[in-house]
Amino acid sequence: MTTTEQPGLRAHAATAETVAASLDTDPATGLSTPDADRRRERYGRNVLTAPRGPGVIRRLAAQIHSPLVYVLLAAGVVTAVFGGYVDAAVIGGVVVLNAVIGYVQESRAQRALDALTRLVRTETTVLRDGAPVRVPAEELVPGDVVEIAAGDRVPADGRVTEAHQLEVDESALTGESAPVAKHDEVLPAETAAADRVNMVHSGTLVTRGTGRAVVTSTGAHTQLGDIQRLVATTATVATPLTRKLGVFSRQLSVGIVVVAAFAFALGLLRGTPVAEMFTAAVALAVGAIPEGLPAAVSIVLAIGVVRMSRRRSVVRHLPAVETLGSTTVICTDKTGTLTENRMTVVAVHAAGRTVDEWADPGPAVRECLVAGVLCNDASPAEGDPTEIALLTAAAGLDPARLRAERPRLDVVPFDSETRLMITAHRGAAYVKGAVEEVLVRCSAELGEDGAERPLDTAEVHRAQAEFAAQGLRVLAFARFTPTGGPLPGQGEWTFLGLQAMQDPPRAEAARAIAACRDAGIAVKMITGDHAVTAGAIAGQVGLARPGEATVLTGRDLDELDDGALDEAAARADVFARVSPAQKLRLVRALQRRGQVVAMTGDGVNDAPALRRADIGVAMGRGGTDAARQAADMVLLDDDFVAIESAVEEGRGVFDNLRKFIAWTLPTNIGEGMVILVAVVLGAVLPIVPVQILWINMTTAVFLGLTMAFEPKEPGLMRRPPRPPARPLLTRNLVRRIGLVSALLVAAAFAGYHWELADGGSLAQARTVAVNVFVGVQIAYLFSCRSLDRSLLRARPGRNRMLGVGLGITVLLQALITYVPGMNRMFHTAPIGWDSWWPVLAAAAAAFVVVEADKLIRSRIG
Ligand code: ADP
Ligand code: MG
Repeated sequence: MTTTEQPGLRAHAATAETVAASLDTDPATGLSTPDADRRRERYGRNVLTAPRGPGVIRRLAAQIHSPLVYVLLAAGVVTAVFGGYVDAAVIGGVVVLNAVIGYVQESRAQRALDALTRLVRTETTVLRDGAPVRVPAEELVPGDVVEIAAGDRVPADGRVTEAHQLEVDESALTGESAPVAKHDEVLPAETAAADRVNMVHSGTLVTRGTGRAVVTSTGAHTQLGDIQRLVATTATVATPLTRKLGVFSRQLSVGIVVVAAFAFALGLLRGTPVAEMFTAAVALAVGAIPEGLPAAVSIVLAIGVVRMSRRRSVVRHLPAVETLGSTTVICTDKTGTLTENRMTVVAVHAAGRTVDEWADPGPAVRECLVAGVLCNDASPAEGDPTEIALLTAAAGLDPARLRAERPRLDVVPFDSETRLMITAHRGAAYVKGAVEEVLVRCSAELGEDGAERPLDTAEVHRAQAEFAAQGLRVLAFARFTPTGGPLPGQGEWTFLGLQAMQDPPRAEAARAIAACRDAGIAVKMITGDHAVTAGAIAGQVGLARPGEATVLTGRDLDELDDGALDEAAARADVFARVSPAQKLRLVRALQRRGQVVAMTGDGVNDAPALRRADIGVAMGRGGTDAARQAADMVLLDDDFVAIESAVEEGRGVFDNLRKFIAWTLPTNIGEGMVILVAVVLGAVLPIVPVQILWINMTTAVFLGLTMAFEPKEPGLMRRPPRPPARPLLTRNLVRRIGLVSALLVAAAFAGYHWELADGGSLAQARTVAVNVFVGVQIAYLFSCRSLDRSLLRARPGRNRMLGVGLGITVLLQALITYVPGMNRMFHTAPIGWDSWWPVLAAAAAAFVVVEADKLIRSRIG
């Protein structure tokens, strides 16, 4: 951060020229590149230095702040009071270790998310050396002249120098959601900050129009910077799932304390010494707590996020990872998402004739091409692909000279509601836009000889229909004489012609759509384009059988009441000529039918639909900042394939989470039950608290966490979406967990008594019980690689972590069994070779039982 003062001036109370002069800049040409570089040295980059989150100690403490850890700490204190200092130290060690692991993992997850968010960078248009260029917003300096347009995030604070119907949503700063109209006039000096309508502020969103502003302050010196300093945000990686698990752990702790108290009381009634009963109660509490669960959940989610980014989609909110897995409908854009967005004009229709070659155009074709050049914001290298195509089509007319000769006097920017763009020039105003919108205002057209003649609307519609049937995107052009008042002005327009452009479907789109269909996910196209064009493209990408797409237009939608809409929305494949407001209505309709909707969008007006959708998907390249800010997920390449991949990854993440939970819970329940049974029977404990902690910690880290790295199961995209209401622990899964828990209890007691009967010491018998637990966990882990299908049939892919974790676990068990120091600390003793038989037998039994359970009732759901 820089400490250099930025020019503090009351910019709202001075003319734009005065403000520019005091910043030593020119509103018409901007700064020179060397000057901007010098200023950046002085004022720093245009970034908000991230507010310092809570410190390391606070964040570590947050890890400990959990009911489960409190139970654990209480157990440690009780143990220490009764003289078990080593045990108390081990418990303390576990608490610290747990906090450190949780802290490290959470920081890593947060860093990964931060890094991904940075991938989606804001760019801005700035005048440098007199010409507009796109630069990352962080390169702006005070004195820069920026161009802003609907959809942009305002990149810095600035004084408006030019405004065309400019409106800005400042809710990020003021909380007021109605857009504010901006102008460039001088305001009284005493105008309150919120009313300075000739200023724009960093972080707000342009909702309408275009404009220019001189940057007055950047980075931390902006109003947004002030606000951010006030509210230090805390990094949270909470999701509905983690919250649900939080509730689960609270309930679990209460349950554990109750059961432990019950066991304690029962022991006392029996006359067991208090110290011994305390140990038992502690063992029960410690055993039943799934220490690794919270860390595992955030790790699995974070790994999912990283995997998705490799497949070119960035998840902005962690909950999206879970929701993606249950998506039932994807509503996707056409242009750029299903198609390449590489437009080429392939035909021009003017004066009643279609030509596909116009090297030497007649007057009518020529004027149609001129309109395409003048009513156009692109440069040959940059801009909307539709507009670039128009420039390319008119290359023979020297577009640069045309524009220099007839500079733009006024503009009505393209808007996906009106589907028109208008520019005024000396001599005429030019219009381009959707055919229907243009034709309704035209009565005359330009004839072959360049003279006006009555328009044959039916003839133009025939030409359009022919183009659209081939999947071509059609733009209509017109001109009129401006009255001098605000555009579009009164009067009739003169039709100039049509330009038809080709936009090839993306190569991978058809495969991805088919994959979605196999996965029980409906794909629907939502586009502003013409119904016939949209239907033809739908056929080309396999969204419907060629020529058979069910197409509804925005007008059809308006005629339906909500009930009829719900039904129609479910049936149609394509929604054409749809406005953003209708998109929102569609999302609602689909959701009323219980669908989980992923919806793409790129424009400012799409933001409400993106927010309302279960998964809002914005475009990383083509989209506006407004859409990105409203979205849950951003496609780096705007590619439909990335949505399909993300759904697949989402399903994989959910699977892996469930595998971890299915694996971890039986251990905890089993341990708790072993102690409870011993207490009820009045027997000596087959395992003691430190051993339980050992089992929980080592296996959670080295066995359980390997489930986070499980590859996706082969049939993942051939099964139907998970109903969102279905609980994490389905009835079949609960039964499976109960089965394995019971098996663990039986096997642990069996191993323990087997060793005692064989003449082993108490320490040796407990060592066998510990190894039985770990042995069963290893066998069960392999079964958990597929919850539904037998391991032989599921054929899971390679998981290197599994091998590594297994090796470490075996080594650790050897250490706790045979190393004298470890024996002392964990109350274990070396056991003979024979004593491994019960361990192997228990592991084999677990494997057989679980695999048999899969065969009998295969669906975990
Ligand atoms: P989509 O992105 O779904 O293909 P758009 O909302 O971008 O649809 O475009 C809808 C219609 O608006 C197009 O079919 C075209 O007729 C018109 N249109 C698109 N871009 C422009 C533009 N830059 N200027 C004028 N009209 C346009
Ligand atoms: Mg578009």
